[in-house]
This record gives sequence, structure tokens and C-alpha cells, in this order.
Amino acid sequence: MKKVEDYIRTIADFPHEGIMFRDVTTLFADPRGFRMAIDQLLHPYAGVRFDKVVGLEARGFILGGAVAHQLSAGFVPIRKKGKLPGRVISESYTLEYGEAVVEVHDDALQAGEKVLVVDDLLATGGTAEAGIKLCERLGAEVIGCAFIVDLPDLGGRAKLESLGMEVHALCA
Ligand code: IMP
Repeated sequence: MKKVEDYIRTIADFPHEGIMFRDVTTLFADPRGFRMAIDQLLHPYAGVRFDKVVGLEARGFILGGAVAHQLSAGFVPIRKKGKLPGRVISESYTLEYGEAVVEVHDDALQAGEKVLVVDDLLATGGTAEAGIKLCERLGAEVIGCAFIVDLPDLGGRAKLESLGMEVHALCA
């Protein structure tokens, strides 16, 4: 039987030369693959009640919507700077070259709400860490972080675990 990783293709030199980009659009496009990915993302959280699923732009929105529906939870987008229309709080983090900023509406999460953070891929962990900080600044409790792909050599899992996070990933 095909596994989740069998549906993901790798594209060389995207978006820059030397980068091996893990392309999950082929997983999302396959009915069996997509269902398998959502089911496996949910697997460790059987019986856990979440108030909100937080998705990181952009592929975290596709996963997060499906996961939120299954959990009967709300969905909250964390977006790149300047995309959300309402009042926001922001977190910046460093990239290989320069800085990135992510934002969330300041009324999207309430104090004490239990949150699952979802994205397609964990690399250095900078994006997920910034997302977790935004959730925590609004008083929410991040119970877990779930990804399709974890690239452990880039240190993201270690970074999130050092913050006390439980990291769940389907493949490396
Ligand atoms: P990090 O902040 O270094 O952990 O990078 C993770 C973020 O970059 C996620 O939002 C991913 O969607 C995106 N990303 C980085 N590399 C890849 C890749 O190879 N495939 C898909 N997304 C990637």
C-alpha cells in the first residue's frame, strides 16, 4: 500500500538553486493520499478536545481546514505580513536571507483556548515558532504541532521540542 511520502514529489532547484523542494500538491491532489494524510495528522489526538486549529500560510490552510472540520474545531489563519484585514499582532523571525513577519487577528483566539498548529513542512522551525508565539501571546494553549514532512537535519523539531512542544510529523 502506498504511504503518505509516496505521494510527495521533490522538485530540484525550487525556489532557488540547490533547494530540493518537497511538493505536497501531488499528495493533496490524490483522493486517497489526501484522506490518508488528514487521518494520520489526527491520529495522535484521538479523544483530545481542541477549540481551534491554527494553519500557517499557505499549505497549512489546506490541511488546517480539513483537520478543523474533523475535530469540530474553528480554523484560524496565520498569514504573512499585510494580508489580514483586521487588527493584528505580529511576530518576526529570521530567514536564511533577511526576516519574515507573520500575523494573526488579535481576536482570533481567546485566553485558555486549546490549539493545534498545522503546516505542511517543518524545516528550521522559524515559521512554526513564530506561529506558536502568536497563539501564546493571545493566551491560547498550544497542545500540539502537526506537519506532513519533518526535515530533522534543519533543527525545527529540536527547536519546537525545546519550547516544550509535542511535534507530530508523518514522514521525514
Ligand atoms: P521553516 O520556517 O524553516 O521551518 O520552514 C517551514 C516553512 O517553509 C513552512 O511554512 C513550509 O511551507 C515552507 N517550506 C520550506 N521548505 C519547503 C519545502 O521543501 N516544501 C514545502 N514547503 C516548504
